[in-house]
Amino acid sequence: MSSINWPDALSVGTQHFRALLRFDTTNPPGNERLAADYIARVMQEAGIEPLILESAPGRANLVARLKGDGSLPPLLLMGHVDVVSAEPDKWTHPPFSGDCDAAGQIFGRGAVDMKNTVAAHLMSLLLLKQRVASGQPLKRDVIFLALADEETGGEFGAKWMARAHAHLISDAEYALNEGGGGVMQVNGQRYITIQAGEKGTSRFYLRARGNPGHGSVPQPQASIVRLAAAVQRLGSNYLPVHLTQTVRSCLTVLMQTQPPAVAAMFADLLQTGDADRIVPQLPMDDFERRMLQAQLRNTAMPTIFHAGRQLNVIPDFAEAGIDGRLLPGCTREEFHAELLTLLGDAGCDVQLEWHPHFGPALETDPAGLLTNVIREVLAETDPALHLLPTLVTGGTDAKAFVPLGIKVLGYSPQPPTDTDTFNRAHAHDERLHTDSFHYCVRNTFEIVERFATRSA
Ligand SMILES: [Zn+2]
Repeated sequence: MSSINWPDALSVGTQHFRALLRFDTTNPPGNERLAADYIARVMQEAGIEPLILESAPGRANLVARLKGDGSLPPLLLMGHVDVVSAEPDKWTHPPFSGDCDAAGQIFGRGAVDMKNTVAAHLMSLLLLKQRVASGQPLKRDVIFLALADEETGGEFGAKWMARAHAHLISDAEYALNEGGGGVMQVNGQRYITIQAGEKGTSRFYLRARGNPGHGSVPQPQASIVRLAAAVQRLGSNYLPVHLTQTVRSCLTVLMQTQPPAVAAMFADLLQTGDADRIVPQLPMDDFERRMLQAQLRNTAMPTIFHAGRQLNVIPDFAEAGIDGRLLPGCTREEFHAELLTLLGDAGCDVQLEWHPHFGPALETDPAGLLTNVIREVLAETDPALHLLPTLVTGGTDAKAFVPLGIKVLGYSPQPPTDTDTFNRAHAHDERLHTDSFHYCVRNTFEIVERFATRSA
């Protein structure tokens, strides 16, 4: 174990965190170079030599590697430094101020998504560097990666790195990323999530054509009417249940940790997959229930509707955009077949056309040393907390790196008392309490140090 002066380390970490919040890295345009240059300076002062790689002017990615003895494969600490936009007039402290109020809340766009995690990763690297310098080697290299462009899909960040500079990271066995580490309550029991999978994106359009005509002479077969029926069917029905590995692990933990009556419901769900009957009875709030339903199936949610221009004209064309999300292991062809079955006669003469963007789903088996270490550190914090593998319905930069063979787990430790962290992401007054940030720094370091020094 290292002898770390934690009061000093936490105060330095907080300075770096607040400094990162002061850079306006709103994406677009990103300007991640501001944050990358700062991190590079901090690393160089500590004797670490980073590499800054620009995918376009100002779009900087930073990678740095702390060498181990090479006996085990590296650990990648990955995070993004771009942020979504903010409306300053809706904030009580300016979004790029890094202000800390009297209660200890640190304000800034990126405070929870995810400059906090990047600062914690940076502190882990700096503290491990001290450890190595004092003659205590690591068994694994630890690679730090600060990425551009996560918020608009990673073309200038993770995807570009995976395409153009994969050799700098692809020897990593595991990566720690955003997407988990927060508290979730089910039936009063607290769980800490670890993101082990992500759904894929497979968007499409529904299009209907028909005869134009005068609005005073109704046409039940008009394009807009047929499209509305198809949209109604997609938006108000579920596609079939598929229990993926991650969801099975999640339901198993719930089954093992809930009181008998509730545990029996999760066991029933695991065995029968009969979500229509079981999920409505589960002791969860409406949002959690919808979230669980989305993790159990492919989904197709109508989000755009275009038809008509004039009140007295029946339009000859109507179009709906559908946000389709695919489970790991499901192909687009299987999804297509499920959609046609669900649309049934409402789909007749409605044409389905895929949007070109297709981000595949992914899944990482969480079983292994890294998860064991995370569980161990969590148990030392509070033995009543359970680690819950989750399948995220959206996406992160993990999508770019899992195809390289890296096992990406989403885990950025947040105190179990901080129940609102993820709701503050992308919201007005995004903020993180200093104590929560300190918890993140200490726990991240504990996990990284133990994992990088323990025999496999
Ligand atoms: Zn993020």
